[in-house]
Amino acid sequence: MTTFRPLRGMRDFLPKHAERIRYVEQVSREVAQLYGYKEVITPVMERYELLAAKSGEEIRERMYAFEDMGGRRVALRPEFTASIARLVATKMKNAPKPLKLFCVGSLYRYDEPQYGRFREFWQSDYELLGSSRPEADAEILAITNDLMRRLGFRSYYIKIGHTGILRGILSEEGIIEEQQNRIMQLLDKKRWEEALTVVRGLGAPQRCITALKRILKTRGNDTSRVLKGAKESVQNYESSVAAVENLQEIIQLTREGGTAFETLIEAGFARGLEYYTGMIFEAYVPEMDIALGGGGRYDKLIELFGGEPTPAVGVAPGIDRLVLAMKKQRVPVKIRREKRVMVIPVDEELKTKAFELSTMLRRAGIPTEVEVMGRTVSKALSDADRRAVAYAIVIGPEELKEGKVVLRNMEKREQRVVEIKNLLEEILGSTS
Ligand code: AMP
Repeated sequence: MTTFRPLRGMRDFLPKHAERIRYVEQVSREVAQLYGYKEVITPVMERYELLAAKSGEEIRERMYAFEDMGGRRVALRPEFTASIARLVATKMKNAPKPLKLFCVGSLYRYDEPQYGRFREFWQSDYELLGSSRPEADAEILAITNDLMRRLGFRSYYIKIGHTGILRGILSEEGIIEEQQNRIMQLLDKKRWEEALTVVRGLGAPQRCITALKRILKTRGNDTSRVLKGAKESVQNYESSVAAVENLQEIIQLTREGGTAFETLIEAGFARGLEYYTGMIFEAYVPEMDIALGGGGRYDKLIELFGGEPTPAVGVAPGIDRLVLAMKKQRVPVKIRREKRVMVIPVDEELKTKAFELSTMLRRAGIPTEVEVMGRTVSKALSDADRRAVAYAIVIGPEELKEGKVVLRNMEKREQRVVEIKNLLEEILGSTS
């Protein structure tokens, strides 16, 4: 007989792993609430054209795209931003600005599976729409920083750049957007020489090549030194200078506003997605060289989908990679463990009573399981031990006649006969 396995790049999450994924999701949701971001839920499948419009060559080629039974070209979402942009251009067109949206869920990319790279993965996503001001960029950085802190990372850093620095040089040299996208793609993959060859091939003068080369080398932790260097390198390109100044303002606002995180400024930073128009960034832990989350400003996307011109900035933390990074740094998962109870009837006649008691306990908020295998008390107790249950309640005919049951503290291995009416108090009031 055939045994089935998940498809390549797709995973089953067994309870321990699923718990971690949901934990990161929960912390992400708490951060959204703290900043006033409202959750929206969008479909996993969208029209191909929507998802392909501006995501960039790399993601376009990796989409799970197919024709549905109605002959429509559809795809599984490779990211959230396109769906959010669709919402803002249509149903939420008249929503007051700023509009702050949060979503979380699974995404699909036909990537080559490797460490931290899957074909089905999870992201949370924060989008701030309606503001072109540096305050909005700074807020998205603060959200990213808060998430990393709340998850308990011991050390992490945020790599920051600005698409306007490179694009400014290319635009002022008359290089059209399509060619710019191609060049940015190569730079994103660190194929610098190839990118410069393309630029040369387009007839750009030597001063452009020199500026690009200098920018690609301008990086480091010393923010003011790096930004000063970047400004000098692009002094002949007005819009690139404006981009550096914008970045400077965002970082200054973040710092002076009390959001402290380690920064790696990279003036020549390019991200895979084409729609970015301003600041871009990625979060990292020193132990891993893959990004844990990424984001940036995208001021043109909403118009592209027929909406009003709406500046926007957002971040998408990758939940799977955050879980991997937490394991690497041995960050504990802070899940509150409630005392759990197992109810065991000593014989067949008492199973109704076992159900009745377990219902009462659950209604009081106590996680309660009931013996469903018809096992003897000793077998059921050793199973309760294995499951690390705090209490077992054994229902026997003699005690029941007097309205009592046996309450066993599994850890202390002590048991007492208690009145059913005092049961909740006994369990909730105890410290162990
Ligand atoms: P992007 O949407 O490409 O900006 O990616 C944002 C974040 O999503 C990344 O920093 C990763 O944490 C995560 N991510 C992207 N692609 C994958 C993948 N194939 N598998 C797991 N996580 C991913």
